Amino acid sequence: MRKKSLYLIICSITALLVTIHIYAQDSAKRRHLPIIDVHVHAMKMNPAFAADMCPWFLSDMPGGDPNQPPPAFINTDCAMPLKAAKSDKEFQDSLMATMKRLNMTIIASGDASILHNWQQAAEPGRVIPSIGISSSKDMTVVAFTDSLSSGFYKVMGETAPQYQGMSPSDTSLDAYFAAAEKLNIPVGIHMGTGGNGTINITNPKYRASMGNPLLLEDLLARHPKLKVWVMHAGYPMADEMIALMGANAYVYVDVAGMIWSYPLAEVNDYIKRLVQAGFEKRIMYGTDLMIWPKLLETSIGVIENANYLSFDQKRDILFNNAVRFFRLDASKYQ
Ligand SMILES: [Zn+2]
Repeated sequence: MRKKSLYLIICSITALLVTIHIYAQDSAKRRHLPIIDVHVHAMKMNPAFAADMCPWFLSDMPGGDPNQPPPAFINTDCAMPLKAAKSDKEFQDSLMATMKRLNMTIIASGDASILHNWQQAAEPGRVIPSIGISSSKDMTVVAFTDSLSSGFYKVMGETAPQYQGMSPSDTSLDAYFAAAEKLNIPVGIHMGTGGNGTINITNPKYRASMGNPLLLEDLLARHPKLKVWVMHAGYPMADEMIALMGANAYVYVDVAGMIWSYPLAEVNDYIKRLVQAGFEKRIMYGTDLMIWPKLLETSIGVIENANYLSFDQKRDILFNNAVRFFRLDASKYQ
């Protein structure tokens, strides 16, 4: 009897070891399921501003006084702050390694030389450049159209008139949107988030009211073929976001920025609300990646660990919805 149970134990351990071995071999061969991050910023690292950051830091806005110095925008007092990269090379190396390991593609806007470097370092097609413009002072319409026609830029964004206290339907931007519509270029518009006390601390012209998703309606009516996604999902205006998407069939959102800055329970409630309202096919994953390389894992983790989302809903948010919105070929990313 004792001999028999010893034999059974040995058999079980052997079986377990064989399973682990096969699994390890298998997962080494298989690539991670593809992920598209639709909201990345390419910027030159400035060590003087390279502050570490605790995710979900906007959980506390103590009532101060206008006659006192403004509160700190970013909190670094947590068990595991995300480290800011100290150089362009450090950031690029880390970004490329994560993109490779997690089978990622990014839509990135910002510094053109950084975008070129990333494109050269990444697998072909994995860095999709986007051209950001927020005011007619940034660039003439002709220069903008030329940039789009060159073929380097495939997307327009981040467009952020809200930081100028301007509506996205302001007619001063209309010729740019008309060019994007004509050239079939999808457009990302910043709406909603700004951070606690943004007007007092960093952006005096910012207006919370200009982040109302319903302000897009005039623009959408003027340009029926324009493909628009609302960056930051219009947070915190869920009702207006749902009303806008309900009335306008082609509007998508990304969850960038809000996914790692506002309180985590609030982030999950917001995403859940949009899914519950029926928009799981129109939510795209994005980070708003700037200077903290590990922000990618932090943000992907929010979707991966969302117990209110099914496997298919997670795949839609992390990949399928962006493929559909940006008219990409899914077979190139497997
Ligand atoms: Zn933004």
